[in-house]
Amino acid sequence: MIQIDLEEERKEILKRYRKLLKMAKPLLKEGDARIIKKAFSISNDAHKEMRRKSGEPYIYHPLEVAMICVEEIGLGTTSIVAALLHDVVEDTDWELEDIEREFGHKVATIIDGLTKISGVFEYGSSQQAENFRKMLLTLSDDVRVILIKLADRLNNMRTLDSMPRHKQLKIASETMYLYAPLAHRLGLYAIKSELEDLYLKFTDSETYRFIANKINETRISRNRFIKTFIAPIEEELESQGFRFTIKGRPKSVFSIYNKMKKQNIPFEEVYDLFAIRIIIDSEIDNEKADCWQVYSIVTDFYRPNPDRLRDWISTPRANGYESLHTTVMSNTGQWVEVQIRTVRMDDIAERGYAAHWKYKEKDAAQGGKGPSGLDEWITQVRSLLESNDGNAIEFMDDFRGNLFHDEVFVFTPKGELKVLPHGATALDFAFEIHTEVGAKCIGAKVNTRLVPINHKLKNGDQVEILTSAKQRPTEDWLNSVVTSRAKAKIKDALKEEKRSTILDGKEIVQRKLKQMKMDFNSEIVEQLRAYFETKTPNEFYYKIGKGIIDPTSIKSFKDFKEQKRQKSKPSLDKVKDESSFTKEIKNLKGPEHDQLLIGEDMDVVDYILAKCCNPIPGDDVFGFVTVNEGIKIHRTSCPNALELLSNHGNRVIKARWTSQQQIAFLAGLRIVGTDRVGLINDVTKVISNELKVNMRSITVDSDSGIFEGTIKLYVHSTQHLEKLMSNLSKVEGIIKVARFD
Ligand code: MN
Repeated sequence: MIQIDLEEERKEILKRYRKLLKMAKPLLKEGDARIIKKAFSISNDAHKEMRRKSGEPYIYHPLEVAMICVEEIGLGTTSIVAALLHDVVEDTDWELEDIEREFGHKVATIIDGLTKISGVFEYGSSQQAENFRKMLLTLSDDVRVILIKLADRLNNMRTLDSMPRHKQLKIASETMYLYAPLAHRLGLYAIKSELEDLYLKFTDSETYRFIANKINETRISRNRFIKTFIAPIEEELESQGFRFTIKGRPKSVFSIYNKMKKQNIPFEEVYDLFAIRIIIDSEIDNEKADCWQVYSIVTDFYRPNPDRLRDWISTPRANGYESLHTTVMSNTGQWVEVQIRTVRMDDIAERGYAAHWKYKEKDAAQGGKGPSGLDEWITQVRSLLESNDGNAIEFMDDFRGNLFHDEVFVFTPKGELKVLPHGATALDFAFEIHTEVGAKCIGAKVNTRLVPINHKLKNGDQVEILTSAKQRPTEDWLNSVVTSRAKAKIKDALKEEKRSTILDGKEIVQRKLKQMKMDFNSEIVEQLRAYFETKTPNEFYYKIGKGIIDPTSIKSFKDFKEQKRQKSKPSLDKVKDESSFTKEIKNLKGPEHDQLLIGEDMDVVDYILAKCCNPIPGDDVFGFVTVNEGIKIHRTSCPNALELLSNHGNRVIKARWTSQQQIAFLAGLRIVGTDRVGLINDVTKVISNELKVNMRSITVDSDSGIFEGTIKLYVHSTQHLEKLMSNLSKVEGIIKVARFD
């Protein structure tokens, strides 16, 4: 047992509080210190009996969050107060009204936005998504809610060590899914990188440590290289009278990891492990000219790569980022990225929104230059929130779509600039212009050339939209757009159409039943729904209305019922609830598949193997409670796992294989080799004769002597599969055997 010295602890708490005050000091106005003190005492008192999972006093957490707000984001008193109190309403007896009474309306609104929604959720909704939506709703009042939330998340990620494994995974996935892109979008570069690194550390610690060690090992030689590289630049900058600093910074572990993965290269081959950053002290009016002057000096010494010049000064990125990037060839034949920016630009790049705000106020006082990309983004989020009445998950997907990293800059026929996310199409552009233009869009002219609606736009394109009064949005339009605005508008239009199709379908069903002298009531509808294997009555109506289910086949349902009745089993009419009816149908149609193989205390539970990743025994898996299909089993490495774990952590169920039973599972193998006569024969022999495996399909391609085959087969376990793979790789001529999903 650990002895806790309460007196020591009390001292430590005070020490941390004073540190916070000291850091905040330059930001404080008269009377601020008193308010902060009050917030601290109240929070300290309210959390008195609580401890974090690590055993530390709870108050360390709000104190740390407040410190992140000050030091790493640059926020002031209101945020410090809100940060100190952010968990008080959620976790203690304090109510929002108490906060409002003590600290006023502003602080109370912010804390409301930071407080999770509790209570019962509609089945099929996601508590995480709802909470996120709520947080964003407050954005329209105050962007500080999100900034404090990010600080909260950063502290939680930094202290994730003491959490149980499944919580680590959930919190880390959620962070990667949402908070890191959000930090990026708000221009909080330092926080974004740290969140990503922590994500990797907790989900793939081996890789994380490997890369971090490598960065460390190469530090000395890297520093030596940087010193030589910058020497002539420094000299020239000095002689031209620039005030400047030059940094050589290694890239984050995560970004290196990403490069290795994307380009499929080892650590040693990642050429841009670091970037040189030249930060100059420049008057606001001379910024652009000065940066280009520095560019000219750099490229006097080193030859630039013309494809890798990025001018984020003339056109800042939507998150406010400004900088001039070039990649040049060093004397040792290595490409080096050089970033040129002013102190102001650097501040915005590192600390994002708050820093941006600070300069903007200054700027506005001097006459200003109109709304920035960030303000526009916030306006966009607001309008998204206002137009969205659908469910929260859909909303979150849409919102995430808005966070994507790169933008394209395109022009209207009149030369007006529009900024769209990377990958945006002509149709996105049409919806950006106007909802009606989007809905009637039949194509576009890009740089006077005719293109289809799904044509992807490139930087500098000039786009003219072509419309037709006869045009109507269809389902597959959703695949042709990337902006959340276009998606939302198309969905609205489809919803409208769907509603009328459902009504049509319902009418048809009523008519058919009447013809067959059957009643139209909820019981019959429920049975029809189950018989036609649709999830809801509306889906059934819809499929009838659309003709996906042939209305005449309702007759077969009647026959089926008669038949059932003659078998003198308990009448289906008596089976009232839907699950037992579904079961009855299944019984009649024959058994579908498997027995239980998943474990712990779950015992015999029905489950389905997810089609997206085809798990087989031996794979790392988890269970996921779906709305209509019971529990689905996914591999932890499934491409959908991240989304599921982060959005619906509360619906994830532990699952593992209990034993290797003799049940067959579908797995896919890809084989590559040099073609020769009889190769396919040898391969199939290994599969069917030697291991008594059941092959489902084999497809083979042969091109100029190279043989490529895909085989789908039933195996019993990963060991079984591995054994098979190793036997296959022994076949003469086979170069590679790999599993695919
Ligand atoms: Mn918290």
